[in-house]
Amino acid sequence: MKLFVVNLGELWLKSEPVKRIFLNKLVDNIKSMLIERGIKFKIRKERDKIFVYANKSAGKVLKNVFGITSFSFAEEVETDYESIAKAVRKMAKGIRCGESFAISVNRSWKGFKYTSKEMERMLGALIKRKVDLENPDKVIYVDIRKDNSYVYMEREKGLGGMPISTAGRVISLFSGGFDSAVASFMMMKRGCSIELVYFYNYPFSPKSDRERVIAVAKVLRKYYPKSLRLYIIPFAKIEEGVMNYCHIKYACLIGRRIMIRIAEKIARMRNAKALVSGENLSQVASQTLENMASVGKASTMLILRPLVGFDKNEIIEMAKQIGVYEKSSKISSPCPLTHKRPATKSEPKTLEEEEDKIKGLQELIDNAIKEAEVLEI
Ligand code: ATP
Ligand code: MG
Repeated sequence: MKLFVVNLGELWLKSEPVKRIFLNKLVDNIKSMLIERGIKFKIRKERDKIFVYANKSAGKVLKNVFGITSFSFAEEVETDYESIAKAVRKMAKGIRCGESFAISVNRSWKGFKYTSKEMERMLGALIKRKVDLENPDKVIYVDIRKDNSYVYMEREKGLGGMPISTAGRVISLFSGGFDSAVASFMMMKRGCSIELVYFYNYPFSPKSDRERVIAVAKVLRKYYPKSLRLYIIPFAKIEEGVMNYCHIKYACLIGRRIMIRIAEKIARMRNAKALVSGENLSQVASQTLENMASVGKASTMLILRPLVGFDKNEIIEMAKQIGVYEKSSKISSPCPLTHKRPATKSEPKTLEEEEDKIKGLQELIDNAIKEAEVLEI
């Protein structure tokens, strides 16, 4: 079994009681994700670190847990100079000829007889490689604690963010495209529990879109410590209503407003606190400030738009990093509500009036929710 020392993210910003809640949640999330992948482990937490004993494959799992800034494989030794020095010498074998190094000592237990600085000097003298404190090729970290001490070299970067389930639940309007996939990921990263709502346009769009949306949701599930709920809302009848009764230049915006109404209803049923959308300022005609405002007026609920300030290239880069790029790029069915010259400066009042023209809209909405397919991914 290896020992992983897990370093935590922004928890230092929190008060002690809040930190404890976050830490417990993070431990629960790590446990669930390891159990789900059939990895045997032991886990122990201290005030500011988590220690996971497991085989090497646990590293892949820890890379996908929100709330972890970094982790390292570590040697656990007794807290005395000789044992620490032995582990440091062993670690130093990983520093190649010509590479420089530094030793970074953190003495959490102030009762230890040498100071951090003294330890750094003494341990550094044991290694026959070039010291470079400014820009070392390798750093050996020594964490001196009362019972045991830890020696480790490379740190693997984690995802950062907050442990999932510490920020409350959100409902994400999830088309499976890059934007909504990345937006959902970003809210997960801030500690939200999330449920996805997909408006399915079959028969206007092919059945394969449904499969692809599920495939993208499965990628997000890799970062989620429990099952991920996906609502598939049949949307074609509503789209038909919009096409039959509304001016075509507003159709796309009205479609969006109805999506928001439905998502809000689900949010209220599920006690969620906000909606999430992948909208991005000025990306397309429906995403001007005016249109975002008048579409958003369809609900009184908080709508989070985590991508609002990013460039498309940056979003695509994130989609690649998360691993959704390939699957998201396959979802390309054009929306039947798009128009060559859509309104770019809509007024909420105009959209409300247009929407009121749709016969039996309330019933269409209620039926769509009743007929929704609910998947646990
Ligand atoms: P995406 O890449 O997420 O599909 P987009 O660039 O295609 O976004 P729009 O089509 O304007 O942009 O959609 C803006 C947002 O509205 C999406 O990011 C998503 O949150 C929501 N949305 C659009 N279509 C759907 C749908 N069929 N189901 C669920 N949400 C949707
Ligand atoms: Mg899209």
